[in-house]
Parts: sequence; structure tokens; C-alpha cells
Amino acid sequence: MRTELAVIGAGPAGLAAALAAAARGVHVTVVDGAAGPGGQYYRQPAPGLGARRPRSLHHGWRTWERLRDGLAASDVRVLTEHQAWFVEQHSGVFTVHALRGLGEDEPVAVHAGAVLLATGGYEYVLPFPGWTLPGVLTAGGTQAMLKGGLVVPGRTAVVAGTGPLLLPVATGLAAAGVRVAALVESAGPAHVARHARALAGKLPEGAGYAARLLRHRVRTLTRHTVVRAHGDDRLTGVTVAALDADGHTRPGTGRYLSCDTLAVGHGMLPHTDLADGLGCRVDGTAVAVDTEQRTSVPGVWAAGEATGVGGAGLALAEGHIAGRSIAARLRGTAPDPSGWAPAARTRETLRTSAAALAAAFAPPAHWSDRVTDDTVVCRCEEVTAGAVREAVGGLGAGDVRTVKLLTRAGMGWCQGRMCAPAVAGLTGCGPVPSRRPFARPVPLGVLARHQPKPPEEGHA
Ligand SMILES: Cc1cc2nc3c(=O)[nH]c(=O)nc-3n(C[C@H](O)[C@H](O)[C@H](O)COP(=O)(O)OP(=O)(O)OC[C@H]3O[C@@H](n4cnc5c(N)ncnc54)[C@H](O)[C@@H]3O)c2cc1C
Repeated sequence: MRTELAVIGAGPAGLAAALAAAARGVHVTVVDGAAGPGGQYYRQPAPGLGARRPRSLHHGWRTWERLRDGLAASDVRVLTEHQAWFVEQHSGVFTVHALRGLGEDEPVAVHAGAVLLATGGYEYVLPFPGWTLPGVLTAGGTQAMLKGGLVVPGRTAVVAGTGPLLLPVATGLAAAGVRVAALVESAGPAHVARHARALAGKLPEGAGYAARLLRHRVRTLTRHTVVRAHGDDRLTGVTVAALDADGHTRPGTGRYLSCDTLAVGHGMLPHTDLADGLGCRVDGTAVAVDTEQRTSVPGVWAAGEATGVGGAGLALAEGHIAGRSIAARLRGTAPDPSGWAPAARTRETLRTSAAALAAAFAPPAHWSDRVTDDTVVCRCEEVTAGAVREAVGGLGAGDVRTVKLLTRAGMGWCQGRMCAPAVAGLTGCGPVPSRRPFARPVPLGVLARHQPKPPEEGHA
């Protein structure tokens, strides 16, 4: 099928861009792998669940209503349950290759004059002894269960790790009737105080969460970390310990908390696979963009967490700017930035606070010292921390790729989405941007039939 603008990702960034472009006469097709639009932040309960008050699980519901109603009133085409695995360009025409169907094996191609990558981010997962036990979930995964499935993962939970996402997870679980035994945050008040000025705008939101934690009697342990999850065939409790100023656990501070659920998160990393395949520049771990949200490849824009993790408000602002820029550029004119000045101001403020949040809530130093040799790091290929250390110390590997070749860590189904930051940490490098030829697993039959060539003119 043919369109003027293909937006990949129907989260806040993708929807804001699609609406801004469509309002200026652009024909837009949005492609998303999920069952409905909304992305992670506005994830909706499956219609069959008959949720009576879905808004009670959400913040910013009014904004979601505006996006949802705007979409319904527009002629934006939304292709849900379409997994985009590759985007290619021939003679100025982009082709988004996607897979649909129960087996995600029916190929679909969307041809467009411009592409917006609004693919969001994925969770920064760090291992620790016992993390593979049933009952241990990621913080975002717990949110997805609550918002999308209307289910709680257990009766008694510990929420742990670092970062602002722990707050909605702990309060969401408590509001849903789960006893939250503790919120264990590895950052301390001093970390946050160091960035007080940049975070001033976040104070009301933080105070609101603090009040909810108090109301639900959730104990907060700052400058603490989970050192082990316990259980035979499922989680029965965790040991947490206090951290000293350098990030080492303080001897003698370990304590056991009984729980059947551990929701653990250490922040987010941007999805860069599709951008990488197109040859877009990636700075650090995020897709590089200019003030119009254009990537380094002409005709390709990016917005939201793919360009750096900063929350739904920032994604909305970036998406709006991208949509307006694309509308002008597709018509061969330069956009007038004064038209999006309020969004640009929001973007600047929120990027500043996102940088401060990232610095205040960095994953704890020395986390890898607490990972025992028998801890599985790559779950798909069952590679232990000991095997990674042997590859580094015994065989001389100095980067993630060599460790992968020597141990198979990152070679499985998830292609390193879960284990890459952990393998990088154990290898002694920082998180590296994802480099995968395809953003999704592709059946060989689809690849075999794939003919990389431009669409015929007028084909629809
Ligand atoms: C699991 C999870 C849960 C989260 N929960 C919360 C929360 O409760 N509160 C909060 O403040 N923040 C939450 N976040 C952070 C949140 O993602 C952002 O703040 C915000 O949603 C970012 O908006 P976005 O538009 O950039 O990306 P997203 O909202 O992540 O939207 C990206 C969209 O792109 C789609 N996509 C990605 N790759 C492909 C592909 N290859 N093919 C097709 N579709 C694709 C995804 O299905 C998704 O719908 C969560 C993040 C994650 C990963």
C-alpha cells in the first residue's frame, strides 16, 4: 500500500506526529505491533475485558482522549498488530516491511515518501541472583499487566531498582489491592538533591506519588538494592541491603522481605534497530535528531523515546514538531518553527529534566559485583555470568560482540534485548546501541520471497 507518511509506533510520539501531519493535509499510515494505539504510556485494556473505568489506571487521560478522538476524526490509517521488521529506501521511496497475522508471518509492505520512527524504548534489565524465578517481573511489564490485562501479578510485592517508573508501578499495584511490602530505590535523596533545580518542575508529580505511597502505607527504602531473590520453583522473598556512598552494599544491612512478586526496573533504553538499518546516526544509545526531529537520513524523522528517554510529555512535544516539519517538507517548503514554539519550549524543559533524572537515577555502581558466577545472564541461550567472565578474563574478549561469539550471549530469540546491558556491564563497557539487521524475528520464507525494489508508480 502507498501513503505519504509512514509512522512506525502508535505511542504518544507517533500519534501526536500523525495528527499534526494529517491536520496539514498529509496522508498518514501508522504501523504498530500492539493490538491498539496508545503505546506504553496510554496502553489500553483489551476490549474483551470490559474495563469499566480504564482511566483510573492512567495519568493524563484527557490527553489520551484528545489523541483518540483526533484519530477517530481524521483519515489517518492505523495498522495495528503489524510488526515492522525493516525499512529500506530506493530512489527516494521508503518501504516499511511488516509482519501481521497470528504467526506474525504474513508480509505487508507500506510505501511512503517519508518515515517517522516513533518506536519508543525498552527496559534496562540488570541480573542478580534469583532474577529468573517466576514472580520476578520487569517494572514496565508489571505496568503492562495492570493497564493492558487488568491483572495483578501476585498478593505481596516488592518494587525495586531505580527511576521514576517505580512510582506508578508501586502506587498502581497498591491501588489494585496488592500489598506493597517496600519500594526499594537504589538512588538516595542526595542524588536527587544534586539535580534539584532541573527537577523543580517534577516536584508536584513527585509529591503526588509520595502522598499515594503514604496513603497505601508503602515503606520506601532509599539507597537500597535487591541482592538476591529467593524461592525454589517461584519467588518467596528477596534480600535487600543498604548501599554505601560508592555503591557497595553495606555489610550487615541485609534484610529479608517476604513477597511473591518482585517488580524491578533500572530505566529505559531507546529502540534504534530500524534507524540503524536505515543508516541514521545514533548518538550514544539514541537516534540523533535536529531541531525539526530530522535524523541524519533525508526523509526520515524520529521522535519520542527512540531519540532519548524522557517520558510521555516529551514524546508528545517531539511528535508534534516532527509532524509539522514533515508536512511542510513533503510539500517542498521550509517549516516555520514559530508555529511550534510552545512545543519546542516544552521539549527543552523536559529534555533538561530527563537528563537530570537519568543522572539522579543511574543504575547503581558495582551492580555486577553482586552477580554470582552461576547467575544466568542471557536467558534465551542460558549463558551464565561465569561464562561471560571467562570469555573476558580467560579468553580476552573486550566487547559485547566478541563475548557473543564466544558464549552465544545475545544470540537467542530476544537478540540481546534483555541481556545486552548486563553483558556489556560484565564485559566492562557501557550500554551500547542495539545493532540488529532486523527489528523483529522474520520467518525464512518471508526473507526468501523478499525482493528489494521500489514500488511501481501508481500502485496502491
Ligand atoms: C513496558 C513499558 C511500560 C511503561 N509504562 C509506563 C508508565 O506506566 N508510565 C510512564 O510514565 N511511562 C511508562 N513507560 C515509559 C513510556 O514508554 C514513555 O514515557 C512513553 O510512552 C514514550 O512514548 P513513545 O511514543 O516514545 O513510545 P511508546 O509509548 O513506547 O510507543 C512506541 C510504540 O511503537 C511500537 N513499536 C515499537 N517497535 C515497533 C516495531 N518494530 N514495529 C511495530 N511497532 C513497533 C510499540 O508497540 C509502541 O506502541 C513504559 C515503558 C515501557 C517499555
